[in-house]
Amino acid sequence: MLAHRSILVYIYMKPLSTRTSGFTDSIIRRMTRISNQYGAINLSQGFPDFDPPKEITNRLAEIAPHGPHQYAITWGAQNFREALAKKQRHFTGLDIDANKNIVVTCGSTEAMMATMMTIVNPGDKVAIFSPFYENYTADTILTGAEPIYIPLVPPTFEFDANLLEDAFRKGAKAMVLCNPSNPCGKVFTREELQTIADIIIKYDGYVITDEVYEHIVYAPHQHVYISTLPGMWERTVSCSSLSKTYSITGWRLGYVIAPENIIDRVKKVHDFLTVGAAAPLMEAATIGLSFQDSYYHELQAHYTHMKQLFCDGLRQFGLDFTDPQGAYYVLLDVTKYGVKNDLHFCEWLAEHVGVGAVPGSCFFREDVHHLIRFHFAKRDDTLKAALDRLSELEQKAKTYKG
Ligand code: GLN
Repeated sequence: MLAHRSILVYIYMKPLSTRTSGFTDSIIRRMTRISNQYGAINLSQGFPDFDPPKEITNRLAEIAPHGPHQYAITWGAQNFREALAKKQRHFTGLDIDANKNIVVTCGSTEAMMATMMTIVNPGDKVAIFSPFYENYTADTILTGAEPIYIPLVPPTFEFDANLLEDAFRKGAKAMVLCNPSNPCGKVFTREELQTIADIIIKYDGYVITDEVYEHIVYAPHQHVYISTLPGMWERTVSCSSLSKTYSITGWRLGYVIAPENIIDRVKKVHDFLTVGAAAPLMEAATIGLSFQDSYYHELQAHYTHMKQLFCDGLRQFGLDFTDPQGAYYVLLDVTKYGVKNDLHFCEWLAEHVGVGAVPGSCFFREDVHHLIRFHFAKRDDTLKAALDRLSELEQKAKTYKG
């Protein structure tokens, strides 16, 4: 009776916000829940199943009894920002100041949202390469702006500079640049970045980067920070995080690096959005920011090994997939299984083959339903077990009704 009354009340109440009415939940994170439901090996949402560096977890245990347990300074603990500024000065050669150029955020997710709200007005346009990571569209819409998509065309994922310029001709104020790219594994060359920079400078625009895979790049490819190109420091807001670099995705430690005038505003947006990142986690992670170059070399070697193990396995099954230049994802072509709805296929895959994947359609603006995304940030035994299950895909797919 009571429940009935509540439903009637809901019908007559004012509707919830129009801006969010078209939102679904994140398909990436939904696939983790579906994988768990079927006990599938979860190669959908990208996070490692191996431990973070011992130095970081030992430090966390060491500080547990005495903290810090209360708020840090809203834009990040001083020692964390100093260690981060030093690390990023080392890798970019830019004169990054811990007090003027950094805001520490709750993951790169908050970094990008705070940046979007800092730069973009309702009604503005934001250029986004497609395929793209789901959150960019959501961030743009939450800001009240409108996304314009520019295709990265498979199999090389090159872009047409005229289409990008067109977006700015039509009034785009900013663009999102995910480099290395999730989900396609593209690492933009210096020449491609220069093409982008020329357009940004010509049209007085901004670049919002997502560089969370900056240290996961496969030889001979190299990560170039677009903020280091001539004239681009002033126009670039660099977003990244410690999640992937130190295997601590659950710690939600991200950051924004930008010129002082932009950072001053990001500080305020961030302060009201989340107050701050977790103080004990910043304290524990500071040690990671001070690691020597050898740490980053070993990380690259480890990811190169995982990529080879997983891709060699897929190759044996005669399946087509993208071989990434950076980040830790492959897009697998499942056309031959008669897939009409890739979300449905991924649900079937989790239930009947026991491996979790993300339907490719959630990354593409274009009508793409024949790709699914796996990630390979997993221990050898996990990857081998997943390959073992996938070896039955061909056989089991005969029963799949798309
Ligand atoms: N970047 C990861 C992915 O694409 C997950 C990030 C997240 O869920 N916050 O799977």
